[in-house]
Amino acid sequence: MPNTKYVFVTGGVSSSLGKGIVAASLAKLLQAQGFRITIQKLDPYINIDPGTLNPYEHGECFVTDDGAETDLDLGHYERFLNVPTSQANNVTTGRIYQSVIDKERRGEFLGRTVQVIPHITNEIKERVQVFGKSGDYDIVITEIGGTVGDIESLPYIEAVRQMKWELGYENVLVIHLTFIPYLAAAGELKTKPTQHSVKTLMESGVQADVLVCRTEHELSTKIRSKISRFCNVAQDAVIQSIDASTIYDVPNLMLEEGLDKVVLKKFGFQWKEPELSQWNKFLFRHKNPENTIRIGLIGKYVELQDSYKSILESFIHAGAENSTAVKVECIHSESLESGKVSSVLSHLHGVVVAPGFGERGIEGKIAAVQYVREQGIPFFGICLGMQMAVIEFARNVLNLKEANSTEMDENTPDPVISLMESQKSIIEKGGTMRLGSWECEIAKGTLAYQIYGTDAIKERHRHRYEFNDHYRKMITDAGMIASGTNPETGLVEIIELTGHPWFVGVQYHPEYKSTVASPHPLFVNFIEAALKYAVPSKKNTAALN
Ligand code: GLN
Repeated sequence: MPNTKYVFVTGGVSSSLGKGIVAASLAKLLQAQGFRITIQKLDPYINIDPGTLNPYEHGECFVTDDGAETDLDLGHYERFLNVPTSQANNVTTGRIYQSVIDKERRGEFLGRTVQVIPHITNEIKERVQVFGKSGDYDIVITEIGGTVGDIESLPYIEAVRQMKWELGYENVLVIHLTFIPYLAAAGELKTKPTQHSVKTLMESGVQADVLVCRTEHELSTKIRSKISRFCNVAQDAVIQSIDASTIYDVPNLMLEEGLDKVVLKKFGFQWKEPELSQWNKFLFRHKNPENTIRIGLIGKYVELQDSYKSILESFIHAGAENSTAVKVECIHSESLESGKVSSVLSHLHGVVVAPGFGERGIEGKIAAVQYVREQGIPFFGICLGMQMAVIEFARNVLNLKEANSTEMDENTPDPVISLMESQKSIIEKGGTMRLGSWECEIAKGTLAYQIYGTDAIKERHRHRYEFNDHYRKMITDAGMIASGTNPETGLVEIIELTGHPWFVGVQYHPEYKSTVASPHPLFVNFIEAALKYAVPSKKNTAALN
C-alpha cells in the first residue's frame, strides 16, 4: 500500500473560483495538524512555463528558489505554508509534451507509437507521484488548472482516473470546486451548473469525492442535500466556500465547514484540532490595525491586481506585523509622464517602483523616484524599480542627462544599467534570465544590514540587466551606496541612499519570500519607515546610528 495520499483539486462551471486558495487552505489545515504536505499545480497550457507570458495573460510570474518561473498559485502555497516550492510543483502541458518528445527522440519508447494514453498520461502521473516517491510527504495536493470539459484538461483528468484505479480509492481523492450562482430575479441559489459540472467529470470516469461550492450566499441544508443527492457526494462532503473579505480567512472557513475532516476521514487518518495560533494572531493584527498608511505602487500593469500579486500580499504581511493597514494605490507610470508628479504622489507615505520589462512608462517611474528622493518620502525599488533609481540618480545628481539602461536605449552614452555579461550570447527568451536564489553579501553599517540583521542573505532574481560597475565609484561617491553585492561576481544587488530616511533599491524580488509566518524584513521595515513618515512623532528612530 502506498504511504502517500493524493488529493486532486479540479474546477468546474467557471474559472477564477479560487482553486489555488482552497488548495492552499486545505494544505494549511493539514500542515497545522502535523501532516507533511506539498501542493502542486498542473497547468494545461502549451507554454513550457509562464515566464514568456504577458502579465495581462496570466498575472504575475512567481519564481522559486531553484529558478523555476511558475504560476502565481505557487506564491499562495508558499505564503500559506511557509515552505519553499520548486520546479516540480508546477508542470505545464508544454513541459509534459517536451519531455515525452525528448524521450521519443532518444528512442526510449522502443519503436512504439507515442500517444496521449498511455505516454502523456504516464508522464503526468510520474510528475505527480514524484513527491510520493521522495518519501517526504504524507499528502500531496495537486491542483489542475482550467475547468473540466476543456479539451486541454482531458489528459489530466484521465491521469486522475488512472491514479484512482491504480492506487486505490482510499489513496486518491478528488475535490471538485464549483460555483453556485444566485439568481436575484428568482431569489434563489441554483445547483444545476454544479450538477452538470460533476456529470462532465463523470463522463471522464472520475467521481468527485468532495464538492467545494463557491457561493455569495449561505447554502441551506436543503441545498446541500440536493447537491449531495444529484452529485453522488455525501452531505458532509458538500462544502460551502463563501466569499471572504480576505483570502487569509479561507483556512478558518474551510475548518468550520469541515473540509480537512472529510479529507482525513476518507484517507482513514485521525483528525485533530489544527494549531493555528500564529495564523490567527496574524489575522487579528491584519483586521484590527492601529494605523493606516498610503503606499503608491508604480507600475505599468496596475489595472490587473494579479500582476503584482506577491508585492500586494507582502504588504499585507508587513502591515499586520506593524499593526498597520496598508492602503496600496496602484499608479500607472505613464500617468506620471505629463509632469503631474507631485499632485499624484504628495499624499503618499511611501512609494514602491515595481518590477517590469520594456520601455513603456519608464520616464514616469524615473520622475517618481526623483520626487520621492527630493521630498524624503520612503522609497522602495524592486528589480526594474532599483534600476530606475540608479538612472534617476545618474541623470539628476551626477548630471549624466542621457543615462539609461541598455534595455531602453541601446545607444545611451551612459549605460548605468547594462546587460549582464552572461546574457550577451543568449538568444532564446524562455528560462534564460538570471533566475532563482543567489547569495548576497551585505556591508556592515548599512541600512540593509540593519534590516536583515546579517551579512549573508539569499534572494530570488529574475532579470537580464544589472548595475554597471563602471559607474560604481562615481555613484557611490555621490551618496548612493552599493550595500549588497553578489560574493562571487560582485554584481550590485542592493543600493541605498545615504542621508535619506529610507531609500532602498534591490535587484532581486523580496516579495517572493514573504509569508504569513515570516513577513519579509524589507517590507516590514519599509512599512515602519512609512509609518514614521506618516506620523512624524514616530520619526527619527529609522535613521542609521
Ligand atoms: N527588465 C529588467 C531586467 O531584465 C528588470 C526585470 C524585473 O524587474 N524583473 O533586468
